[in-house]
Amino acid sequence: VFVCFEGGEGSGKSTQSRLLRDALTDAGHTVLLTFEPGDTLVGKELRRIVLDPATGALADKTEALLYAADKAEHVETVVLPALARGEVVITDRYVDSTLAYQGAGRSLDVAEVEQVARWATGDLRPHLTVLLDLEATAGLGRFEERDRIEGESVEFHERVREAFVRMAEADPDHYLVLDARAPVGDIHQQILQRLDPLLGQ
Ligand code: C5P
Repeated sequence: VFVCFEGGEGSGKSTQSRLLRDALTDAGHTVLLTFEPGDTLVGKELRRIVLDPATGALADKTEALLYAADKAEHVETVVLPALARGEVVITDRYVDSTLAYQGAGRSLDVAEVEQVARWATGDLRPHLTVLLDLEATAGLGRFEERDRIEGESVEFHERVREAFVRMAEADPDHYLVLDARAPVGDIHQQILQRLDPLLGQ
């Protein structure tokens, strides 16, 4: 089973993905918790290049291709092998982040960005994507590493948020959208409930 967490800055993805990993592990599942960008050897370098302020602004297409490379490496060397071993794979960010940030955020052609991302991932799709939805201003306020995102405007992050919500609304069978301002424990319970039927498989 392949589960993704998506959402803007400060929406609680890492907290919730860790809680889910722990709960499923306690329930007897073998769980791999991973993230994008950066959870492979080459991905670590790619993450440094795309997120280090010292790199300076990259051309939009360069950025999109580096994120796609991170995904290709991640899917092939981490996600697919774990799924093949029968593990539950939880990833903090996946293709939707690219469609939202590099597509809607940067105003590249979303259909083109999607083609590249689908190619990079062999069109591997999650069984469920949990979207932790939060107003951009609220999320940015909670964000600890502010300097990393200083370059982006609130409007950029609003476009990102709207893109996430649109993707979820278009495919309700594969998304669980939760208000990120709800108590951490409530959000966790809703995720467990929604996953329950999937985990029986
Ligand atoms: O989830 P995490 O905080 O590790 O993401 C790091 C940063 O990478 C975020 O600030 C996000 O803005 C950016 N990002 C991006 N495009 C992606 C994935 C992440 O711009 N496809």
